[in-house]
Amino acid sequence: MEYAMVTGASRGLGRATAERLAKDGYPVIVNYRGNEKAAQEVVDSIMAAGGKAEAVKFDVSNKTMVDAALEAWESVHPDDYISVLVNNAGIRQDSLLVFMQDDQWQSVVDTTLGGFYFLTRRIVKNMMTHRNGRIVNISSVSGLKGMPGQCNYSAAKAGLIGASKALAQEVAPRKVTVNVVAPGFIASDMTAELDQEAIKKLVPLGRIGKPEEVAALISFLVSKEAAYITGQVISINGGVI
Ligand code: NAP
Repeated sequence: MEYAMVTGASRGLGRATAERLAKDGYPVIVNYRGNEKAAQEVVDSIMAAGGKAEAVKFDVSNKTMVDAALEAWESVHPDDYISVLVNNAGIRQDSLLVFMQDDQWQSVVDTTLGGFYFLTRRIVKNMMTHRNGRIVNISSVSGLKGMPGQCNYSAAKAGLIGASKALAQEVAPRKVTVNVVAPGFIASDMTAELDQEAIKKLVPLGRIGKPEEVAALISFLVSKEAAYITGQVISINGGVI
């Protein structure tokens, strides 16, 4: 059976994506880092809607945890493979560069780029064997435009775009696609503390985006209809850039 894995699926965009992919018919692996209660809520909501899901805890930036979690999953699912991977887990630790602490830089880069690297290199191998796979990496308007106070986050999200474009060319002959979704301001815990009225003024469409709108885009990119789209960055930002 083909599974979809969504990292950072206990909350926000990841949760909406997990729920959407379950509605699309995928059994979903709901990854989370620490918030077990929230992850279980996502699994319960998917099951209540008639879908299939399991929560799997690991820190995407930790190679040992990633390897152990994937090995454990594979041993319980010898006939299954992950054909859809959404690298969504991300954090921000904003600071002007002159004041930035080493751990603010490192944790953001490790979560976005380390997470992509540790997980994708393992999962893409099976996709290539099956000549079938969809990878969607979640970047940001910050990775396209750069945002003051986010040198760490902008660097990580821009790096993710470069890695995605390179990987897309590596795996295209095996019918695996790799694309990037670059959201603008989307309602979630990550943006909850920002001045919502000030943000709306920056957005030509005059509102903050919904996680379900990002999930719908991801749903399309992983569908059979999107087989000819690879190596692309698709923005979803209300017209911000
Ligand atoms: P969020 O509400 O803060 O949720 C973050 C999710 O990532 C949680 O499920 C969290 O798990 C998980 N996570 C964080 N670090 C992790 C790690 N090391 N390993 C595994 N899981 C980890 O964030 P969001 O707003 O939904 O953002 C999701 C993605 O979209 C991020 O990559 C973010 O950069 C990107 N993005 C968001 C916006 C926006 O406006 N919201 C805009 C552009 C891009 P726990 O619950 O266990 O902590």
